[in-house]
Amino acid sequence: MATVQLDQVNRKFNQVTAIEDITFKIPDGEFWVLVGPSGCGKSTILRSVAGLETVTSGQVFIGDRLVNDVPARQRDVAMVFQNYALYPHMSVRENIAFGLEMRKVDRNMIQERVLTVARSLSLEHLLDRKPKQLSGGQQQRVALGRAIARQPQLFLMDEPLSNLDAQLRDDTRAELKQLHQQLGITTIYVTHDQIEAMTLADKIVVLNRGRIQQIGDPQTVYASPANEMVATFVGNPPMNILAAIYKGENFDINGQILAIPSDVQTKLNLNPGQNVNLGIRPEHIHITPDLSSLVVEVKVVEPLGRETLIRASLPSSSTLLNIQVPGGMRLHPGEKLNLQLDLSQLFIFDHNTGDRIF
Ligand code: ATP
Repeated sequence: MATVQLDQVNRKFNQVTAIEDITFKIPDGEFWVLVGPSGCGKSTILRSVAGLETVTSGQVFIGDRLVNDVPARQRDVAMVFQNYALYPHMSVRENIAFGLEMRKVDRNMIQERVLTVARSLSLEHLLDRKPKQLSGGQQQRVALGRAIARQPQLFLMDEPLSNLDAQLRDDTRAELKQLHQQLGITTIYVTHDQIEAMTLADKIVVLNRGRIQQIGDPQTVYASPANEMVATFVGNPPMNILAAIYKGENFDINGQILAIPSDVQTKLNLNPGQNVNLGIRPEHIHITPDLSSLVVEVKVVEPLGRETLIRASLPSSSTLLNIQVPGGMRLHPGEKLNLQLDLSQLFIFDHNTGDRIF
């Protein structure tokens, strides 16, 4: 097991800066998840740690060892990618055992470890098949099994569950979490999936355009985002953003007035007339009979069972609000709703920079 440290790491591809000034230190045994929009540099960071990419500047350490010039195969990392590359001529058993045989591990020990890993990933009945006799999801689990069997000092995973169907993805995610709890091997994990990020991570690293926006445990990043990008990226459905003008005792949202309670007013350090972006999560908007509140028109109703997701628009505005209401509530497109925003849960972002100002 090992710590991983990146110190001011940059990677440029000709004119394109893929990652810039990346600095963090992962303590031994922690599970860190890299998230961010497509092209933000997640894979480049992972590949730099793996040794598949040479960094343009900065330092990469695994444990105490500076690995900038260490070839990939000497870094003792196991990688699992979206495009799992299994050895086609080998059985599942041989694929999982391969890394151990290369290291000349005792035969009985190999058999035992292959079985344990296969059992934990529900692959026991497939051990004698060849990769082409497996579904995509099964192949992906074999790739995971092969990485796990090696017990390296570091796991690097790039969307390892992306080819699994919804149910298998949920199950495998839980298995991964359990495996991490058992093995405690330091892991860097790239995903687009909010649930994976929130449930697996000790720390989430949010990236945008090659730069770190925030590092924190999932709950902190969710409850206390550093800026508008993080606020809207973490959380599903995403946080609502409303352009508003601060008027002292209220916000003017596209001509509608949102009164600011006096206890919130005293905490705000804004100038009257200032343009701001208000941020409010879907679960902090409630339907109210109070006619003086914010009026919206229902556009789309998406029943999800336990709750229903509503998309609604403000009059003469293209902004769609995400609102979460209890599952039993019957609402229809075209219906007008009065909304109460829980202002104790309000975020305010600078209109120009997106920095969080409240
Ligand atoms: P995705 O979520 O779509 O997989 P990502 O966050 O993993 O994206 P990277 O693959 O790390 O993003 O790419 C970061 C940036 O670097 C992108 O702008 C990409 O186009 C660029 N890039 C990556 N690899 C190369 C390369 N070999 N040559 C040129 N540009 C590259």
